[in-house]
Amino acid sequence: MISQGTLKTLYTLRDAGFEAYMVGGGVRDLLAGITPKDFDVATSAHPEQVKKLFRSCRLVGRRFVICHVRFGEEILEVTTFRGPITDLHERDETGRILADNDYGTLEEDAFRRDFTINALYYDIRDYSIVDYCGGVEDLKTGTLRLIGDPELRFREDPVRMLRAVRIVNKMRFRLDPASAAPIRRLAPLLGEIPPARLFDEVLKILLTREAVDNLYGLRVYGLFKQLFPQTDALLEDPAQLAFVNRALANSAQRIEKDLPISPAFLYAALLWPPVEKRAHELVQAEGHPFHIALSQASEEVIARAISRVAIPKRFSMPMREIWGLQSRFDQRHPGRARRLMSHPRFRAAYDFLLLRAQAGTDPMLTELATWWTEAQKGVELPRHHATVESGDETGEGAPDDSDGTPGAGGDAAPPARRRRRRRRGGRRGGGGASAEAAPAG
Ligand code: ATP
Ligand code: MG
Repeated sequence: MISQGTLKTLYTLRDAGFEAYMVGGGVRDLLAGITPKDFDVATSAHPEQVKKLFRSCRLVGRRFVICHVRFGEEILEVTTFRGPITDLHERDETGRILADNDYGTLEEDAFRRDFTINALYYDIRDYSIVDYCGGVEDLKTGTLRLIGDPELRFREDPVRMLRAVRIVNKMRFRLDPASAAPIRRLAPLLGEIPPARLFDEVLKILLTREAVDNLYGLRVYGLFKQLFPQTDALLEDPAQLAFVNRALANSAQRIEKDLPISPAFLYAALLWPPVEKRAHELVQAEGHPFHIALSQASEEVIARAISRVAIPKRFSMPMREIWGLQSRFDQRHPGRARRLMSHPRFRAAYDFLLLRAQAGTDPMLTELATWWTEAQKGVELPRHHATVESGDETGEGAPDDSDGTPGAGGDAAPPARRRRRRRRGGRRGGGGASAEAAPAG
């Protein structure tokens, strides 16, 4: 089960006279009978030496240089043995290690890893497992245990607290009580971590099969509050929690089925509770129409959120669109409905609407979601008298919609003709379309 790329890397390094081991999650998972996600290699070769041996090698990171060696689709992380942490290491005032590129021996490297079960090395020379930290025993008893003094190790790198939650759930292990003890108290140290690094960690922990358990773990230890303070405050409401859990379970199922999953959708769900709440506040306080309030609420919530966890533009743009489209589902006038169905983000927005409906926060949403489900199936749009506007009782759309075929109906659509896609730059106001929900940005 070890990948070809890993074997090639190990043998190439060995033949060049270096020590090289497979380490980390790959070894841990194989020993536990789980299919590994990826493989990591630890070596005595320094990054420049690794680079010389592999043409496809790229050096990444500053605080901790890692070699990325590529074999087709596979990217392997090759790291040089770390030396022990000493008083000479540069730290910030909370104890976090800032620069970390002193090299060491295999044994020293082992004690620098986070958990005992992550510090097992597979030696290709004799097919043995090298274990300095008691990882094999902990694997047998199902214990996730930090190496060394837990408080010190969490202070060195607070992201280890997130890793603890993620790995304990992935393995279905128990977290050693001494390792768990300081987490609640140290959780605020996550505030020291750059938002870009937290973005990656959040995806690893919430865009995975164990996402629902992970959210629970993050909340138990007060970690979620550090990542998404605006949402955390609202999850006391069971309906809001149900909504977020459904979103997580939904992507977990997609992962199970090998379907594509989108960070934009995840973030849209994670931040929706505060966005919706703020939008309602703005409607009440300022008398804005809902779509305007929604757009303003989105700006405010995103601005606060990204001070903790970064959201790259390529994900925040579609996220905004998913939110913006929620305010357009009320418009069941046939012309507008068809136009909405041809929106490139319709499918994601509709899935999002379904989630909202299923979470049961608002009974009206169930009826709305059903209408849109039906609308995508048939040539005839289901009648909804409450929103049919004057002059349109016949069910005819605007002139440019008169072919009567619903558009991008996704999986449920019959072999209907595909409607043209929205042109670049939007199609504002054309054919009587109102500009009401043109998403900001
Ligand atoms: P996954 O199955 O998610 O890949 P993993 O344990 O392999 O789990 P990686 O991020 O790939 O996670 O890290 C590889 C190895 O590097 C870990 O097993 C661990 O030995 C070490 N490591 C990773 N992050 C840290 C950290 N923050 N502190 C100490 N060691 C770490
Ligand atoms: Mg790994």
